[in-house]
Amino acid sequence: MSLLDIDDLRVSYQLADGTLRAVDGVSLRVEAGQSVGIAGESGCGKTTMGLAVPRLLPPNATIAGGRIMLNGTDVTPLGEKEMNLRRWTEVAFVFQGAMNALNPVQRIDRQIREAIEIHEPEVSKAEAERRVGELLELVGISASRAASFPHEFSGGMRQRVMIAMSLACRPKLLIADEPTTALDVISQAQILSLLNTLRRDQGLGLIMISHDLAAIRRVCDELIVMYAGVIVESGPTRALLGTPETPSTARHPYTQALIHAHPDLHGPRVLAPGLSGHPPDLSKEIVGCRFADRCPSVMDGCRTTTPTRVELTSRHHVACHLVTKEAS
Ligand code: SF4
Repeated sequence: MSLLDIDDLRVSYQLADGTLRAVDGVSLRVEAGQSVGIAGESGCGKTTMGLAVPRLLPPNATIAGGRIMLNGTDVTPLGEKEMNLRRWTEVAFVFQGAMNALNPVQRIDRQIREAIEIHEPEVSKAEAERRVGELLELVGISASRAASFPHEFSGGMRQRVMIAMSLACRPKLLIADEPTTALDVISQAQILSLLNTLRRDQGLGLIMISHDLAAIRRVCDELIVMYAGVIVESGPTRALLGTPETPSTARHPYTQALIHAHPDLHGPRVLAPGLSGHPPDLSKEIVGCRFADRCPSVMDGCRTTTPTRVELTSRHHVACHLVTKEAS
């Protein structure tokens, strides 16, 4: 049984002028101790997909189809009360912009302890305080700083406090949404190293949502690339992104464009090419490949037939007519 098994998930937003299908048939699995990176530009559905797991979607969002098996239970039909029992204990979420998510007028020990008090009321105050100290030490902050206010910490330390808080009730799965955005490079490196250590030492399943392929490369075993609400390619991170010694095995033109849009630290100093155009309007029906209007390899059939997933290896899958044609 997988820690997380998402099958054909569909999430829609109800807008004033129609329905926006933000996630349109996404399937993925995460095992205990495994880390999965989800990449793609803004609006591709990666955060919506992540928020759907602990059922923290905004009020105008609906899970329109599919199932989310969390530790063997489909959480999509569960009510708030049942879902609350699973949040923090089975799955925890580190929010985007977490640096500003702490309550500025409460000391951090109080904020971390609150999760323990709510989810484990049998735990004494002294025991909860001991655990807060342990959690802070775990993320590299001295327990002696527990009574500090958020403004007494740097941005990187506040992010570490948020990670400590997310681990308060020992979840099995952690979903981190852009955990290093807005941090300086030293803090970024420390947070990525921390996530790696937690995964290895605590056996955490980790989903890291990020537009930053370099960050995903440092932490994640598997890479999933989303575009306009669907997964276009997935596979082992190092193989897809390539290394200084081995070229990238990415086959989808969008994945290739994402990789080329990042500066190569080992190559000549050239301006990285951007990707022109915009993703399609997800409130309209889309026929054929969603990337067709921006794809340099677009060909007959791309605008009329939706590409299906092709298995190149047991871990590498691509949805692109070009790849299907070459594989046949
Ligand atoms: Fe490009 Fe066609 Fe592949 Fe879409 S299916 S990525 S348009 S080649």
